[in-house]
This record gives sequence, structure tokens and C-alpha cells, in this order.
Amino acid sequence: MDYVHISDSNLRIQDIWSVGKWHLDTLYSPLSQNLKGNILSYNPDKQAGPKLGGARELALLWRQLVPEKHKFLAWLCLKEALPTASFRFRRGMSSSDRCSRCLSSQESVLHCIRDCPKAQLVWHRLDISCHPLDLKNWFLYQSKEYPFKFFSGLWWIWRVRNNDIFNLHETWPPEKVICLALTSEKELRNIFELQRMSLPSTLNGFWNPPSICTFKINCDASYFGSGDSIDFACVIRDCNESWQRECLGIIESNSILQGELFAIWRGYLLAWDVGQGDVICKMDCVEAFNLVTQDDFGFIDPLVLKIRDIMHWNWRVDFRLIMRDANTVSDTMAKMAMKLQLSHMELLSPWRSLRSACAL
Ligand SMILES: [Zn+2]
Repeated sequence: MDYVHISDSNLRIQDIWSVGKWHLDTLYSPLSQNLKGNILSYNPDKQAGPKLGGARELALLWRQLVPEKHKFLAWLCLKEALPTASFRFRRGMSSSDRCSRCLSSQESVLHCIRDCPKAQLVWHRLDISCHPLDLKNWFLYQSKEYPFKFFSGLWWIWRVRNNDIFNLHETWPPEKVICLALTSEKELRNIFELQRMSLPSTLNGFWNPPSICTFKINCDASYFGSGDSIDFACVIRDCNESWQRECLGIIESNSILQGELFAIWRGYLLAWDVGQGDVICKMDCVEAFNLVTQDDFGFIDPLVLKIRDIMHWNWRVDFRLIMRDANTVSDTMAKMAMKLQLSHMELLSPWRSLRSACAL
């Protein structure tokens, strides 16, 4: 067009498009018939695609019970503002729009966080499917159905992508990323559950000794993405923070939940063997906690039955969910079991390397 009238210079589409119609007669600028025809044939509602990424959907995103950094990353994705190779290429900031990790495609937001083979490995392990196919619907569906898994996967896929590009000498193996994503999912789930249950005493992130004449059992399990093995550990301490007994090892399973349940069961058995009549067991896995304490689940894992049974023996037992940060000793021990490939070991006191690893 030849010129734009000054009254029209700040107009937005929504100023001249409403209720599915153009209102070109409100313009001061002269439009040729050809240009009018082109504008009238364009439907902004259809071109905008599904109404996701709009104010309502973004409001849903901001209401998710996950940390702000996860929501901000998701927001960048939905706004196509993630600095991928395509994004940077379009702005003349990069000489190529290829994904430098797989070299098979442009690195769009969708490729970077979902379709790249490197990302697919993580989503597959988290059991997150790639449907619906388009970015916005996929985001909305997965973040609503599986918020903790989805935001954890998204976060670590973006982190590993950046690490692989900017830290070429120390790229992360897929197992590490999967482990980080699973750990992050567990943490998000715990925070949510602890807040839901409003248990302020368990929300602090450090270990406290039990009261006098009570032993505290801390249990944990973790997965390092290496085959079908889960490491576990449990440690029993008294009110003076003295270690009474500990147990660590590896079980054959690809379910962290199984490892957590096994650690709880072993922890109780160990405490029973020690002979203390008053124990409190603490762990940081919401699923395991719910399985043990709630009856409304259809299938009951045999390990859950064993745990419930031992909790009813002739002693006083308390069972609590805690933050992961308050469970670092058993977490470190579990990881050492995997590192040292210990199939099963019981100890009367921590050995030196364990002391240094746990900063004791
Ligand atoms: Zn790629």
C-alpha cells in the first residue's frame, strides 16, 4: 500500500477484527481492491490455530503446582521464544538452524524438547507419549495429566541440551538425564503432597534426631538408569545421632517404587533385630507412603503387605514422609551401593568412605 494514515499506525489486528469479521471501513488508510481481497480472505482465528497459549491457557500453566523456573521454561516454549537453533537462525544470530545434537532436523522448539532422539529417550523412560502431535496441545495435555513427570522431563531435556552444546568435553549420558528427571519428579511430587497434607513439621529440609528412647530409620532408593537395578539403603540412628545399624544394596527391578518399599521393609526388619521397641521410619517417596498408609488402592504389592504386617508387631511404630533434603544420608548410601556394586550389606557403623561421602 502507498501509505498508512497516522491514525492507523498503531492498530492491532484485534482492533479491526471482531466476532469473526474484518471491519476495514474503520480504517483511514486507502486500501486497493486487491489488498482488501487479500485481507478479507485471511481469518486470524483459523491462522492462530487452537486457542492454546492464549490468556486462559497460560493462566492454567501459571497455576500449576511446580516451581516457577519450570513454568517459565514452559512459557518460553509455548511462546516459541526458546533460543533454539531455528530461533537464533531466524534472527541472524546463527549460521545454521540444524539441531547440533542429531543433525537430522531443524531445531525448532518441538524438535528440541520433544522430537529430537535425545529428548525421545527421556520421554520414553518417563512414559510420556508424543500425542497430541502439535506443541501447544501436547503441552496442555501432558502438563495437566502428568504435571510432575512432564515439567521434570522438560526441564532436564533443556538442561542437557544446553550442557551438550556449551560443554562439549563433558556431555551427559542419557542415563544421567533420566536419573535427574526421575529424581526431580519425585521431589516435585513430594513437595506437592507435603503441602497438600499440611505437615509443617516434616517440611523442613534437614535431619532431626528422634526423641529419647526412640530409634529413627531413614530409607531411600534410587535409579541410575543402568539396566534393571535399583539401589536402596536404610540407616538407623538414635537420639544422640549415633548409628545403630545400616543396610544397603541393590535389588533387581526397574521400579524405584519397589526399591523404596524394599528399603522400608528392610529398615523395619533391621530395627526389630536391634530390639528397640519405639521406632520412627522416615522416607521421601510419596507413592510408597500412600501405598503403605492408605487402603483405597486396588492392587496391593506383597511388599506393602509385609510392611503393614511388621508395623503391627509388638512395638510402637511411626511412619512419616519427609523432604528429600532431610534424607541425604540414606540417599548417599543407596548411591554408594550402586557405585560399589554391593548386592547386600549390613553394617554396625558407617565405614570411613561412607562417613566422608555423607560428611559425617
Ligand atoms: Zn535433534
